Amino acid sequence: MRVLIVEDEFSSRKVLEKFIQDYGRCEVVVDGGEAVDSFKMAWEEGEPYDLVLLDIMMPNMDGQEALQKIRSFEKEKGVVGFGEAKVIMITALDDPKNVVKAFYEGGANSYLVKPVQKEQLDTELRNLGLKPGKPRRSVGRNARTTEE
Ligand SMILES: [Mg+2]
Repeated sequence: MRVLIVEDEFSSRKVLEKFIQDYGRCEVVVDGGEAVDSFKMAWEEGEPYDLVLLDIMMPNMDGQEALQKIRSFEKEKGVVGFGEAKVIMITALDDPKNVVKAFYEGGANSYLVKPVQKEQLDTELRNLGLKPGKPRRSVGRNARTTEE
């Protein structure tokens, strides 16, 4: 599967990259604006992201706004339900306002508070039906058939 890590802190990026390396092809960007651009580009390429690990506090555009833009883009393209990318917020912010906003306004699938342990992330991914090394779906402009 294809994974997008969105994180402005170098050390957090490195940790997440290591955690996720067995799951598939991984790309890293450093703010919400780049996240939205990468997300759209991957979709246009016919290889959309299966999973987005999304920080909230970032320069230029934060993770909450990026999440809403990503979901709007999917909606615009008619991507619904199972076809949607799984989005896990990974953030230092553990206040209810941010949690509620991510789930109910943003459509996040999961919310983890830093520091995140690998076992914790593995459990979340398993709960979301994501397994190491297996393609999950294929949507987008040049959709290919992939093994489930
Ligand atoms: Mg941050």
